[in-house]
Amino acid sequence: MVESRRPITVHNAVEQVMQQVTLLDTEQVKLTDADGRILAEDITSDHDVPPFNRSPYDGFAIQAEDTKAAKKHAPVRLTVIETIGAGQMASQSVQTGQAIRIMTGAPIPEGADAVVMLEMAYEAGDGLIDIKRPFNAGDNISWQGEDTPEDTPLISSGQKIHPGTQAVMATFGYAQVSVKRQPIVGIIATGTELLEVDEPLEPGKIRNSNAYMIYSQVKKAGGRPIMLGQLQDDFQSSHRAVQQALERVDVLITTGGVSVGDFDFLPAIYEKLGAEVLFNKVGMRPGSVTTVARSGDQLLFGLSGNPSACFVGFELFAAPYIKAMQGYQYPYLQTIRAVLDTDFPKLNPFTRFVRSQLHPTREGLAVRSVGLDKSNVVTSLAFADSLMVIPGGARGLQSGDPVDVLMLKEESGTFL
Ligand code: AMP
Ligand code: MG
Repeated sequence: MVESRRPITVHNAVEQVMQQVTLLDTEQVKLTDADGRILAEDITSDHDVPPFNRSPYDGFAIQAEDTKAAKKHAPVRLTVIETIGAGQMASQSVQTGQAIRIMTGAPIPEGADAVVMLEMAYEAGDGLIDIKRPFNAGDNISWQGEDTPEDTPLISSGQKIHPGTQAVMATFGYAQVSVKRQPIVGIIATGTELLEVDEPLEPGKIRNSNAYMIYSQVKKAGGRPIMLGQLQDDFQSSHRAVQQALERVDVLITTGGVSVGDFDFLPAIYEKLGAEVLFNKVGMRPGSVTTVARSGDQLLFGLSGNPSACFVGFELFAAPYIKAMQGYQYPYLQTIRAVLDTDFPKLNPFTRFVRSQLHPTREGLAVRSVGLDKSNVVTSLAFADSLMVIPGGARGLQSGDPVDVLMLKEESGTFL
């Protein structure tokens, strides 16, 4: 007799998974290795930025008062007493009637209270310049602390480190950064039909595509994937492999063998391991057989062998878990609203996650499905930039209806 499983909602399944999250330890990494990692400390400015008043232009540091009466036909003449570049300090202070030639980024010399840009000063020979309009005190000065004053909270822990955060951390001298450890995520593919990626096709066999897809998904979620092999559909050897895998990983992902077929051994393996099954059926298509079990403090994600179902199961459940273990504040896929540009008459009691593509229209974003909408399809995964969420239940959807869309890619690729 086939075991009957009770489906839970996607929402409920995600909640159950996220309740299992335990934060990983913090570690120190070099700033250059910190990209994409999740910050585990708050960054606060420990000095003013900029740390001194400086010139935003190449020009002349002057006393504004001297230029009060300057006119086009009655310029004011100043004596240039010194030149300083960025990184240099003036050795003299600016007195009335004087100017210091100053380059962008150099500190405003003592006595000066304005900067005249090079193109507004006229060389008059013999170290003299003419100014043909008045300047006010404070003109063209980049003030100490105008970017950020000391003691300003800037970046909170739980953010993903990106080029902008790198710039801020370097500004404040973080040669090392505290980040969360990346979980080690083991990947096991099951199925006697599976060939290695470099093997030629044989009758009845297919290449193991899921393991490589998951490897890439794990990296995208910030985890450290390790390939733990392909297993034949054999209970004893599979049980042993899963047991050994659990000794090496924080999280274990398997694909295939989680359904109710004669050679689907994962449910029996969970039982023999004494793992607690959180759920083994979710009200979604594809991926309704997605199973999550807990063994001690480790989660085992049993994803379907069907490539599209495997993909969706990972994105909905495993990815947020892996991200949240690192303390990431945004573990979920970004959801946007878009307008359906095809009819969707097919009814289904389960929520459907349809591989889709977004495209801009004059009215905003529209979304259409890509490729065959079947759980065993692999090729459409290459074209999908999003997953449309078609709610289960009563009616189909028509072109023009709004739908929720989960974003899979960050880049949108439009040239301004
Ligand atoms: P299963 O979940 O084991 O019942 O597998 C469902 C379908 O997915 C079958 O057609 C399998 O051949 C296929 N499949 C299972 N594992 C993989 C894999 N690693 N890569 C590609 N297809 C797979
Ligand atoms: Mg199988």
